[in-house]
Amino acid sequence: MLLHYQPQYDPTTNLPRGAEALIRWNHPKNGLVSPGYFISLAEETGLIAEIGRIVLIEACAQYRTWLNQGISLDYVAVNVSVKQFYHPDFLKSVETVLSDNAMQPHCLELEITESVMMDDAKVVLDVLHKLKQLGVQLSIDDFGTGYSSMSYLEQLPFDTLKIDMSFVRKIQDDGSGGTIAATIAAMAHALNKKIVAEGVETQAQLDFLRNQNCELIQGYFYCRPLPAEELTRMIQELQAKQEIQKEVKILPFPLTQYPG
Ligand code: C2E
Ligand code: MG
Ligand code: MG
Repeated sequence: MLLHYQPQYDPTTNLPRGAEALIRWNHPKNGLVSPGYFISLAEETGLIAEIGRIVLIEACAQYRTWLNQGISLDYVAVNVSVKQFYHPDFLKSVETVLSDNAMQPHCLELEITESVMMDDAKVVLDVLHKLKQLGVQLSIDDFGTGYSSMSYLEQLPFDTLKIDMSFVRKIQDDGSGGTIAATIAAMAHALNKKIVAEGVETQAQLDFLRNQNCELIQGYFYCRPLPAEELTRMIQELQAKQEIQKEVKILPFPLTQYPG
């Protein structure tokens, strides 16, 4: 098992703000296997609790490495499975991983799918409130694919709502087809939540979501999930470019007036 990271971009600056950890299975014969093929199996066999624990540790250790390297990412996002969410040690493991990596709690975002949120309301609310007390960010993943009750949604202490990519895909090149995405964005903003749009692949989708004031964009249009070292290199290059731009701005004369 290994992790790739997909950055989430601020569409107003086109700069990465955070990254989501996505697991892959490095199969000896088949190469990298997507989690779509094995997460549900891992859930059935119960292996998911251990996989989830390792993902959380690994992703936070990687975030610590990025901090040490001066990589400017505000947070790392980690997917939490239903079994992990209900595990009695889950809260403790979150606390431990934050302190082991001397990480500010708001630098960890936990992504919980809408279907988990709709499970046992009392228990879910209790766990979510305890996580929120720790100070971590909470996000509802794949929003729009479950059956959220609107009044229940209002009670959930989450920070971010991720518009499922099935709604993003409906946004056509002429800008039509985005009614559900726009409605979800408007509802989230009315509830004072941030929006991440997932699976953004085209300029038209980006433009449409920018017009809905989506705070963050994740998708192949900007960047595919990458191994940590590749993402590190990409951000280092971006930061170096920004430094040069800053230096150019503070030169007393226009660049053309300097010899060479
Ligand atoms: P997700 O959390 O909703 O992650 C987004 C998925 O969309 C990822 O698929 C990502 O590679 C894919 N994606 C991102 N941008 C685009 C795009 O522009 N176009 C298309 N077609 N796809 C895009 P991936 O990596 O295959 O993961 C699938 C799902 O597996 C995830 O959906 C998540 O639910 C689950 N998963 C991944 N890693 C973990 C993990 O560590 N723990 C748990 N419990 N689940 C995980
Ligand atoms: Mg996710
Ligand atoms: Mg999703």
